[in-house]
Amino acid sequence: MSDKDQSTLFYTSRIYGGDDAFVRRDRPAKTIKEAARETPVFAETDVLVVGGGPSGTAAAVAAGRSGAEVMLVERYNHLGGLSTGGLVLWIDRMTDWSGRQVIAGLACDIFDRLPAEAFQGPARDDWGSKDAATAAYWTQRTAAFHDVVTWSPTLDPEALKTLSMQMVLEQNVRLTLHAWAVEPIMEDGVMKGAIFESKEGRQAILAKVVIDSTGDADLLCRAGMTMDSDIDENNIHHCINTAFLIGGVDMERWLDFKVNDEQGFADFMTQGRETLKFFDKPFVSWRNDVALFMGPRLSGYSAVHVEDLSAVEIRSRELAVGYVDVYRKTAPGFENAYLMLGAPQVGVRHSRRFQGLNKVTRAQWDEGKVWDDEIGVSTSLSPKFPNISVPYGALVPAGIDGVLGAGRHVACDASSHTFLREIPQCWLTGHAAGVAAGLCANSGVQPKDLDPRLVQRELLRQGTYLSPSVEAGLAAAAAE
Ligand SMILES: Cc1cc2nc3c(=O)[nH]c(=O)nc-3n(C[C@H](O)[C@H](O)[C@H](O)COP(=O)(O)OP(=O)(O)OC[C@H]3O[C@@H](n4cnc5c(N)ncnc54)[C@H](O)[C@@H]3O)c2cc1C
Repeated sequence: MSDKDQSTLFYTSRIYGGDDAFVRRDRPAKTIKEAARETPVFAETDVLVVGGGPSGTAAAVAAGRSGAEVMLVERYNHLGGLSTGGLVLWIDRMTDWSGRQVIAGLACDIFDRLPAEAFQGPARDDWGSKDAATAAYWTQRTAAFHDVVTWSPTLDPEALKTLSMQMVLEQNVRLTLHAWAVEPIMEDGVMKGAIFESKEGRQAILAKVVIDSTGDADLLCRAGMTMDSDIDENNIHHCINTAFLIGGVDMERWLDFKVNDEQGFADFMTQGRETLKFFDKPFVSWRNDVALFMGPRLSGYSAVHVEDLSAVEIRSRELAVGYVDVYRKTAPGFENAYLMLGAPQVGVRHSRRFQGLNKVTRAQWDEGKVWDDEIGVSTSLSPKFPNISVPYGALVPAGIDGVLGAGRHVACDASSHTFLREIPQCWLTGHAAGVAAGLCANSGVQPKDLDPRLVQRELLRQGTYLSPSVEAGLAAAAAE
């Protein structure tokens, strides 16, 4: 067989026989006893942030701004989590349906500082536009939804990695990469830090306040908290896959084909599905010559089960290779395409959600409830719903002191998770958790006892958008 045939062999061989055939292997019914040990303390700090994704990066920056001593522990070699290493380059809506930017704060700081060539999206004047031609143009480029232009750009992951590192280092955050947190340090129901593993072995970090921003609530789960893991069956948030980039593309030519040759496009998608079973369209990226694939969305796997994760990687790789083959053969704009990069991080949309003092629920959508302890406002799923108020209580794990949670595992129901997991929302909850952790560490107060108005005032100072009634309440309280 020639080298050229290898890709065909790979994806048709279906090592795991496709999704249906994947079975977890039996494990021996045995245990071993590990020797008890003294674990050296690596560092003591005010705030320990575990996980350097969008939420953890935002949290570390915000805690650093408070003057607290901050450490950020990340298992990989970069910051940004799924928004960089996961190649989730499409930063979803930060504007509401009127075009007002409601996810602001850290999100604004990031886009103010990214070089212009590092992202692609509509000009500010077009946010909220319902002009048919403008909306149609941006719909093809993931920045219009329900015929409304939204601020939801795509960006260069390397530029975001660089900026994220700069932003945390500017706040004197002690960045510890290649370090995998494995166990919380618990004392009488208080999280006092975390144990991590690295090439040096097992070491401890002691902290006044910990932020779990691992995305999978690793520390909170190992502290014994019960996790919510129910899903919204109608949504894709249970799907897992490893994203990839295809280079050597002419995206404008592809879009022209997709929009103007309906039959050709339909035939192409049918052919792809017949060949590979799972087959998706590309997303635009930050450049015309790079196509982004954030699928194929695989179902039925657990994101916290090591065998499932291995199976997802194998299946995603098979499909990525297969996609390149199918696209190269027939898709206009893909004649010179090549597999440029498979994401270094597996794409997990949902695994666990912790139980908080409060949570965002479906019940609040219709009435547009505004929480007194609101720490941010999320965009809603469609123009029929008002904006969604996010309470401070959703960041405070119930029954455990010394710790806050931020990111895609915050306290919410399954329906609300479908959007609270998005990158801007993770910046939002991370920003608020970082502000709160800084306040707690500086004052010796537990997160559950912290006055949310202190968090709100600081967030407003740092450019966060809060509902007008919350802002008015704060102003009235200050005037008393
Ligand atoms: C395929 C896919 C498509 C998506 N599409 C979009 C989209 O179009 N737009 C959008 O806005 N959002 C999208 N999302 C959602 C979004 O990317 C994530 O929900 C978001 O990145 C979560 O941020 P986070 O900080 O909570 O967690 P993550 O981004 O997962 O970051 C967690 C970080 O913690 C680190 N970590 C984890 N455990 C440990 C540990 N024990 N010790 C040390 N470090 C640890 C990880 O390495 C990682 O860097 C998508 C997600 C996926 C998977």
